[in-house]
Amino acid sequence: MFGKQFVHVMALMAMKKHTSLYASLLKASILSCRKSKTKSNGKKAPAEEKKHYMEPEYTKVRVVDFDLKDLVSLPTKEIDLNEWLASNTTTFFNLINLQYSTISEFCTGDTCQAMTACNTIYYWYDERGKKTKCTAPQYVDLVMTFVQKLVTDEEIFPTKYGKDFPNSFESLVKKVCRYLFHVLAHIYWAHFKETVALELQGHLNTLYAHFIVFIREFNLVEPKEICIMDDLSEVLCAPLPPHTHNHVTER
Ligand SMILES: [Zn+2]
Repeated sequence: MFGKQFVHVMALMAMKKHTSLYASLLKASILSCRKSKTKSNGKKAPAEEKKHYMEPEYTKVRVVDFDLKDLVSLPTKEIDLNEWLASNTTTFFNLINLQYSTISEFCTGDTCQAMTACNTIYYWYDERGKKTKCTAPQYVDLVMTFVQKLVTDEEIFPTKYGKDFPNSFESLVKKVCRYLFHVLAHIYWAHFKETVALELQGHLNTLYAHFIVFIREFNLVEPKEICIMDDLSEVLCAPLPPHTHNHVTER
């Protein structure tokens, strides 16, 4: 499948590359962004105190030096939109699964009795629509099993030339992205300290920003679904200042 390898390589580059100049430029825009937000929002939500991931020392940590919008846009008209969505969705599934695996030993039925994120509890709905409350590790396991099954199903994510995507493809991709968002939100909400202890907050922030820019580009998740993390998205997904695109010599 054309595009799959490209996206994967780009994603790995995004995860591994670090440019301190970009970080310092980004810091200026992050700080100004936070400042204006504080002014316009006098009331502090009670949950705000718990949001360690919103502290500037963490939100400034990203490991990319290019505009994420360029990375997610459909590259040329020759690449089919569904191919592009399939490649990206599969890549995000692998990367988010990997990111969760770094903290999974801390996410147990005792520590996380429900699938929470920012005071929201997510319930699992089985194939018959029955609502089930489960622990966070159970929920993540259900998500990953569900997504793994879909992305490896040749009828839904076809990899062979000439094979069409099903009519339900877009709605399934939306569902996958919604579930993957829940997993990222839970990592931030319940396991950010552990992520910092492992020094993986830069990877998490980069992955999160890349994912949010992607789902926004193609309207894959309802804004009301992701609004619980809007404060972080606003800080991390700020585009690069325009003057950084053309030059830069790093010392
Ligand atoms: Zn957990």
